[in-house]
Amino acid sequence: MLMSIMLPSLRRAKEQARQVVCLSNVRQFITAWSTYAMEYNERICSSYTHLNQPNPWDDGHVPGNRFNNWVADGPGVGFNPVCNTEQALRDGVLFDFVQTVDLYRCPSDHRRLVRSYSIAHAMGCPHNYEGERTYTTSLEVRSPSERMVFVDARAGTTRGPDGTVGHLGCFTPVNTVSDEWLGGAVQLSARHDGQCNMAFADLHVDRWRWRDPRTVDYALGNMGFSEFQAASHENIDLPRLKEILRPATFR
Ligand SMILES: [Zn+2]
Repeated sequence: MLMSIMLPSLRRAKEQARQVVCLSNVRQFITAWSTYAMEYNERICSSYTHLNQPNPWDDGHVPGNRFNNWVADGPGVGFNPVCNTEQALRDGVLFDFVQTVDLYRCPSDHRRLVRSYSIAHAMGCPHNYEGERTYTTSLEVRSPSERMVFVDARAGTTRGPDGTVGHLGCFTPVNTVSDEWLGGAVQLSARHDGQCNMAFADLHVDRWRWRDPRTVDYALGNMGFSEFQAASHENIDLPRLKEILRPATFR
């Protein structure tokens, strides 16, 4: 009897401890992100993690990672032996500033991936998705307290025949043209009791609670492509999210 009363509260206490660790992780990443920018003339690292497209501002200053990717998952969007390994973390340009691979995982993320966190697409991704222009320097980021950089995310778990994981790219959960959820590689998470940890360009961290239950369903991966449109209709989380993911300019 006593055990049945105590167990849920023990579980809750453990989850709260994991949330604190996760929030501390995103805080350390946003500090690293900012330090990197300060050391490299305010240029920000790339939110993209694949080595298939050089950044326009690339000058090859980091050996082995000409693309300034914060994590270097290796070439292509398919499977390769580097993606989802500790090497991918160590080859990223932020590793020098954080120095530990454990930081890249949320303790409540029970998938077997080396990384839980992602960076918003608008923050230095070389691809101009939907025709917008992404930020290349921290100086371009207006209203930095309202622009998300890091997010406790849910990367795609597609696996190749040998078990390797493909495409752990940057964070693009919303189609900014159609205002619908996207089915991209990196998705929202809701693993901390329906909440999601984030870090912003002014270096503050925040824990967002998703307000629409359909967002939690989407974030937990319980929703198929055909349901995205309906789940986007009058979803109060979408405009909030679009605002913090806003790129430098739209088409
Ligand atoms: Zn977390």
